[in-house]
Amino acid sequence: MEGYSEPRQGRIYCFANQKGGVGKTTTAVNLAAYLAAGGYRVLLVDADPQANATSSLGIDKQREPSLYDVLSGDMGAGDAVVQIDRPAFKGRLYLLPSSVDLAGVEVEFAAMQQGEREYRLKQALDPLRPDYDLMLVDCPPSLGLLTLNALSAADAVIIPLQCEYLALEGLMQLTNTVSLVLRGLNRDLYIMGIVMTMYDSRTNLSAQVVQEVRSHFPDEAFGTLVPRSVRLSEAPSYGLTILEYDPNSRGALAYAALAEELVARIGLRSQAGEVNSSAQA
Ligand code: ATP
Ligand code: MG
Repeated sequence: MEGYSEPRQGRIYCFANQKGGVGKTTTAVNLAAYLAAGGYRVLLVDADPQANATSSLGIDKQREPSLYDVLSGDMGAGDAVVQIDRPAFKGRLYLLPSSVDLAGVEVEFAAMQQGEREYRLKQALDPLRPDYDLMLVDCPPSLGLLTLNALSAADAVIIPLQCEYLALEGLMQLTNTVSLVLRGLNRDLYIMGIVMTMYDSRTNLSAQVVQEVRSHFPDEAFGTLVPRSVRLSEAPSYGLTILEYDPNSRGALAYAALAEELVARIGLRSQAGEVNSSAQA
């Protein structure tokens, strides 16, 4: 495909934190954008019934088919994927959209056998690995079946953490869940990184959270801090990523840097060169 000499490895990373509003979707969407612009073939999987990742990319969340049809077994994942065909992404960004009916999964799957219901997403995404360099799964703010499916499907989890009071407490709850999943559902799962979001350099609290996270999780904490930026919160209402909406804003530069850091951390290689340089070209 497109001059690639090696088969794609299609690594799967999920963005999880049971706490709401910490920047899971913003991080998944904008990283996907910079990675696609930087030369990687990326599938963003919206596993949240709120469908914020779907609408952030300007895709109608009433649209069918969606991940719901895939998880309920009516359709292969590949048939539900849509290409985000905009110049910034050079044909490399794809979305497996969510829809409100995805909320039904938590109830409908509860009746299924344990050990089967947790692997539906894995079964759907594994066959797509050769088609993508990266699959990024945006999780809902809960530790329900959708998040368990994402943790079971993923090679690793990336945890967005808001720089605020009690951030660390939620983090401990999540790392406990990850350890449980590790023992039961997915023995290979690991925490790939912790992204600190909504960083406000004017407050002591932000600095304190950063210091604590870095001392508890020195290997996991990404060096890039995502600043609190109004531009980041405006972009989704236009159905645009920050790369398209305001590529020179502080939030955009942070996500570009984070994409670079991610690529370096997982040792990805691309024929298209660095994320940053080609994103700004
Ligand atoms: P949920 O748990 O509901 O899925 P989430 O963890 O996915 O939420 P987001 O939707 O990414 O969090 O962010 C929550 C809100 O904060 C959104 O309105 C988003 O636009 C805004 N936001 C995210 N990151 C930033 C930032 N760095 N600066 C300012 N606003 C931000
Ligand atoms: Mg979200």
